[in-house]
Amino acid sequence: MVEDAEVVVVDLDGDGAPGMTHAEVDALVACDDADVAEHVRREVGRSEMEAYTRRAREGPCFVCQVVEETTEAPAHVVYRDDFAIGFLNLYPTLLGYCLVAPLDHRIAVVDDFTEDEYLRLQRVVRRVGAAVARAVPTERLYILSLGSNSGNAHVHWHVAPLPPDVPYEEQQLRALMAATRGILELSQGERDELAARIRAHLP
Ligand SMILES: [Zn+2]
Repeated sequence: MVEDAEVVVVDLDGDGAPGMTHAEVDALVACDDADVAEHVRREVGRSEMEAYTRRAREGPCFVCQVVEETTEAPAHVVYRDDFAIGFLNLYPTLLGYCLVAPLDHRIAVVDDFTEDEYLRLQRVVRRVGAAVARAVPTERLYILSLGSNSGNAHVHWHVAPLPPDVPYEEQQLRALMAATRGILELSQGERDELAARIRAHLP
């Protein structure tokens, strides 16, 4: 079981609007199906964001590090075969937020794949998405490929579950961005349990 964690509501950008409303927090905490629903959401400071950007643009490829198991802290892999990998987002804005990527360092989201390879990867995205949506309270599952050729170039798909009762104006991209949503502070044990939950729900 995950330890109960204090829930804090922070004003992410200092404009008086919290990144997560009390109603959202209450809705998450009230969900008795999710042992991992209680958590701390914290503000991402400017220096942390700058450090993240520096790592993304100048550091080693974070996906290759997960694949090669050379991350500082162990990554939480929820799926792996000889072609693709799925793992918990290291900087989750939503509970259960995963990334799916090819093992190879490929960059172009379409052109670096044959049709068969692309569809194979999408089958993994679908499986991980199904598992995530079953493992945590999910009103709508977001799936998208972002990244940049100037940082985080290794192509990857975001598999991000929007929980129920998030106000409309805080959904979609606002729900995915650390600057507007904040980062979930999950302990190693909470991440272990979350990853195990998702793995257990793989179809
Ligand atoms: Zn890579």
